Amino acid sequence: IRKPLIAGNWKMYKTGTQAVAAAKQLADLTQGVTGVDIMIAPTALSLPLMAAALGKDAQVRLGAQNIYPGTEGAFTGEVSGPMIKDAGADYVIIGHSERRQYFGETDETVGSKIRAALDAGLIPVMCIGETESQRDADKTFFILDKQVSDGLKGFDLGDLNSLVLAYEPVWAIGTGKTAGPEQVKEVHGFLRHLIKEKYAEGLAAKMRILYGGSVKPGNIKDLMHIEDVDGALVGGASLNPADFNKIIRF
Ligand code: 13P
Repeated sequence: IRKPLIAGNWKMYKTGTQAVAAAKQLADLTQGVTGVDIMIAPTALSLPLMAAALGKDAQVRLGAQNIYPGTEGAFTGEVSGPMIKDAGADYVIIGHSERRQYFGETDETVGSKIRAALDAGLIPVMCIGETESQRDADKTFFILDKQVSDGLKGFDLGDLNSLVLAYEPVWAIGTGKTAGPEQVKEVHGFLRHLIKEKYAEGLAAKMRILYGGSVKPGNIKDLMHIEDVDGALVGGASLNPADFNKIIRF
């Protein structure tokens, strides 16, 4: 019942011109692919350009990498949900570890951004994950529980139908280290169980839980075979359309 989602997080890479070229290549390469949702999250500036290049009914969908928790106002430098939606995106990545690490985002900001995304009709991709020192200190499950519980505080069952969870162990991001199959299986199982306990079995059964952290064409197949892995959030390897196409065709 869970359609896999393969999402590319382009982070702060590619100008608008480069983004449009890569999006067109990817759209060509992925022709005929079925049974998987595809999303790219470029910088917000590239969203309207890519949306125009891909067209309204494109299989490659778009997402933002961040959102301001409010619709409009005097907030210099920020981009709101209605603006993201109007620019042609369907998704927004929220609480990426780089936002938590470098821009001071907390579980509370993550919650308010998820609310803003839902209000704008966007699908939130909520990122969680432990750091290396947290894992070494055996705090992985405590941290993940806290990130989910505090990030989703105040939401009820009906709010979370579209929510996508992305488990990205911080130590696996951009490092070439992927979590081992047992680690991934254990965490994804834990997360699904947590959603079941906090909300409902039905929601847990349909919520997509992505894995992120050094996903490559060479390891996607094994990752997708792991129970409770419903897709991937791909950084570096999503920048190259040929590599990303291979990942999409896992
Ligand atoms: P890498 O795939 O480059 O490790 O990045 C993962 C990531 O942060 C996706 O959001």
